[in-house]
Amino acid sequence: MSKKLTGECLCGKVTFSVSDNFRAFYQCHCKQCQQLTGSAFASNIFTAPDNIEWLSGESGITMYEHPSREFSKSFCSVCGSAVPFVNKTKTSLIVPAGSLNALPNIQPQANIFASEEACWLKPGLRAVNFSGFPE
Ligand SMILES: [Zn+2]
Ligand SMILES: [Zn+2]
Repeated sequence: MSKKLTGECLCGKVTFSVSDNFRAFYQCHCKQCQQLTGSAFASNIFTAPDNIEWLSGESGITMYEHPSREFSKSFCSVCGSAVPFVNKTKTSLIVPAGSLNALPNIQPQANIFASEEACWLKPGLRAVNFSGFPE
């Protein structure tokens, strides 16, 4: 049996548990994921649609579905953090990697839509590191 991983949104209203039994881990660089996340790429882990136990806050989740294209996002209605959701075709539960509290037993396998990579991603990775705010 796979171990359980918990996850939560930033404000703590939405909490959940999933089995550490994942099918795929993709970093999506498409423009729509840049908009949805506000960052360079979306880190999404795919699992079976029923692999989720909501521990709290499920009724406080808002789902956005693009009217004509295959883009969705579920987020905490209070803090806006990305939380898991079942895709439109009901084939997978998509777990935003950053919502998990522990390391999953899967590593990112691919950068998808790499042709749309944010022009500032590579310069950002080369930028100087601080452990907190810059002094
Ligand atoms: Zn929240
Ligand atoms: Zn994408």
